[in-house]
Amino acid sequence: MLSDASPIAAIATAPGRGGIGVVRLSGKGLMLVARAVCRLSDGQSLQPRHATYLDFINADGGVIDSGLAIWFPGPHSYTGEDVLELQGHGGPVVMQMLLNRCIEAGQSINLRLADPGEFTYRAFQNDKMDLAQAEAVSDLIEASTEAAAKLASQSLSGAFSQIIHQLVQQLIQLRTLVEATLDFPEEEIEFLEKSDARGKLHVLRETLDNVIAQAAQGALLRDGLKVVLAGQPNVGKSSLLNALAGSDIAIVTPIAGTTRDKITETIQVEGIPINIIDTAGIRNDAEADGEVERIGISRTWAAVEQADVVLHILDASRGPTRADEEILSRLPMHVPLLRVWNKIDLSGHKPSIDVETDVTHIYLSASEKLGMDLLRKELLRIAGWQQTGESIYLARERHLLALKAAQANLQTAADLANQRDSALDLFAEELRLAQERLGSITGAFTSDDLLGVIFSRFCIGK
Ligand code: GDP
Repeated sequence: MLSDASPIAAIATAPGRGGIGVVRLSGKGLMLVARAVCRLSDGQSLQPRHATYLDFINADGGVIDSGLAIWFPGPHSYTGEDVLELQGHGGPVVMQMLLNRCIEAGQSINLRLADPGEFTYRAFQNDKMDLAQAEAVSDLIEASTEAAAKLASQSLSGAFSQIIHQLVQQLIQLRTLVEATLDFPEEEIEFLEKSDARGKLHVLRETLDNVIAQAAQGALLRDGLKVVLAGQPNVGKSSLLNALAGSDIAIVTPIAGTTRDKITETIQVEGIPINIIDTAGIRNDAEADGEVERIGISRTWAAVEQADVVLHILDASRGPTRADEEILSRLPMHVPLLRVWNKIDLSGHKPSIDVETDVTHIYLSASEKLGMDLLRKELLRIAGWQQTGESIYLARERHLLALKAAQANLQTAADLANQRDSALDLFAEELRLAQERLGSITGAFTSDDLLGVIFSRFCIGK
């Protein structure tokens, strides 16, 4: 995908039925396809960026559909190449027919089906956007909460890239100073004092620390908290989830980036996605019907291993049963445990939270909405959510890792600068590495392998 520059085509709208559907094409020589597929009257041509209503036709002149054709000559297009958009009726069959017709008409120019994310990859290649912005396109499409969508949209417009760019500029300034001094070794010792390199480095590190904190909050908004739900039938698990979600609509989605065979549900608490893995849905391996289900079960257990917290729901008016103990014995020890005693309206407990060393107890009633805030706050605390009011960047794990690696390089640089015989060449090298790490976020230094991984996760047609 990363080398083949032939023109591409795909259905850009979501699979299924809709009012309209769009087939999008990008690359060289597309006017040929436009002339073959669109019925234009004599002397008529597609005006750049104008919608023209016409028939989409087969090779024998038979009409496939009628709709709008829009021609975006490069570089003023999404990909930076020539782009042709054909908007027809949004039915899966008619869209497929239109796409097939385009591929057929584009044989001589090697028109082929686009790989996932290939339109956006080309936009990145042609400098229409940097890597962080390209990722924001996918994040915006995949966003499961309003807050995540809003932040993705900000990243798409370049807010995150801009702050990274500023950091890189500061680094470059510092590096220029250092590299200049490296050429005059006799001045090395005085350099750190004269140029206030330490002071500049300090400012840089403070800015980076802030960005990391904001990005960590953004990562939380994007990926949310993984919660394992355990508890016997009828203790009030569904009631609790509904009460937790409050007026937010419960969105049923699998955890991003994982297969659909896991039993997960996502609710939101203050805009943070809480991804719930319901252990009630995990059957014993022995009961599993086949290989596929067994694989599903083992994947679910793997997800349980990586959970942030186990929510064990109990009936406060009854206490734990043997089955409860059995569930708990199967759950990983390293995941923090939150015991939620529900139905306190029946037991007479007061809404409260009791933090013990290895387990926290919360007493509440889901149906009477007593103590729900205690649980909400505790979940947000575990997630590390701080409402700072500061700007937040919708970062991915990849961005956080790069930011932290740069932070470590700058830490080493600061340590070197504080040594008596500070070695300026080592100092310079750490700055160079930090710049490379930051550059990997926007794609200035990114390997083809990583680009392949990032774009292959996009949906087709994007
Ligand atoms: P699940 O099987 O664990 O999902 O439990 P449900 O949420 O379906 O609840 C089981 C029953 O307990 C239902 O009749 C609920 O109305 C009831 N229930 C849930 N929470 C409470 C509570 O806080 N107080 C009382 N009295 N009943 C509750």
